[in-house]
Amino acid sequence: MIYFDHNATTPVDERVLEAMQPFLTTFYGNPSSLYRHGRIVRSAIDAAREQVATLVDAPAARIVFTSGGTEANNLALATLAPNSRLALSAIEHPSITEPALHLKSRGHDVDMINVDSNGCLTPDAIDRLVETLPALVSIMLANNETGLIQNLADISERLSGHGIIIHTDAVQAVGKIPVSFKQLGVQLMSLSSHKIYGPKGCGALVFAKGVTINPLILGGGQENNLRAGTENVAAIVGFGKAAELAQSELAERSAHLLKLRKCLEDGLSTIPGLVIFAEHADRLANTVQFGIPEIDGEMLLMKLDQKSIAVSSGSACASGGAEPSSVLTAMGVEAGLAKSAIRVSLGKTNTEAEIIKFINLLKSLVGQA
Ligand code: PLP
Repeated sequence: MIYFDHNATTPVDERVLEAMQPFLTTFYGNPSSLYRHGRIVRSAIDAAREQVATLVDAPAARIVFTSGGTEANNLALATLAPNSRLALSAIEHPSITEPALHLKSRGHDVDMINVDSNGCLTPDAIDRLVETLPALVSIMLANNETGLIQNLADISERLSGHGIIIHTDAVQAVGKIPVSFKQLGVQLMSLSSHKIYGPKGCGALVFAKGVTINPLILGGGQENNLRAGTENVAAIVGFGKAAELAQSELAERSAHLLKLRKCLEDGLSTIPGLVIFAEHADRLANTVQFGIPEIDGEMLLMKLDQKSIAVSSGSACASGGAEPSSVLTAMGVEAGLAKSAIRVSLGKTNTEAEIIKFINLLKSLVGQA
């Protein structure tokens, strides 16, 4: 199989698996136990917290482990006080838009922030935030569909001094571009392990000093009383190792992915009418989403699948739906073209040979060979 869907999930790196294994067998103690067998496990969680903190340049004490990016996003929005105002960019992931809708039904004012044709927040939209002064604004750092990288440091600078808490869903950005919690000027940041060659079912919320976290899960007081439940130790250890590798290999992985993306985009440019979304904007090196007029994206995805090539038609969660992607719709992409969308998201083990094979197959499937 040629796997081109790394924004949906990534395989666990062998070195991550190796780091996890002892915590499923030998070191199976409960990290809350006071005897040595428990303390060893507690230290492993502390070490993983440090590794994740280093990757995003944040204090380890301000990281709470969760069951993934979805829970981290829900936990971030749960910091809102009753009846306060929330704003979110029009291209957020469902793990932000769905809890936002829920909050709306509970009496919160929820504003959608407009984006331009690349998915970037418009200057007018940022001015409007300063006028409406939401208690919390959620702006993703990199988009899962198009790969667009939002200029968040600039946005947070423009919003600073207005008492707005800024949350960023950095699930797709982390491990692909350098991310500094401190330098971005945000107060909340969501992360996920399985997008960076770690195991599924593990993530984290990073929070700044002074932000009150309202736990979603109550119980035995784990994670400093912020997220109860016996820790998913092996997954947390794996997330830590994946973070360490992402940090040390970032430059190498980025260079490889940029080279592959160039090869992919050169090939795509030979297909008449093909449009790469947010083509000229700052994008993740691994992500290319494109549309071909008159072509049904879901159908094309199935035909590629028959040839053992895995791509996505948008975000994994939206796959199978008949509606065009809400991200592309927010960017003003016409519905027909949006429905033709295919997302290729590359990973560290992909090769140029795979891309050439994909381009040739794509050409024959859309009648251009
Ligand atoms: N946020 C973004 C941008 C994502 O792409 C995803 C996963 O697709 C999530 C959040 C959810 O993360 P998880 O799968 O760890 O719950």
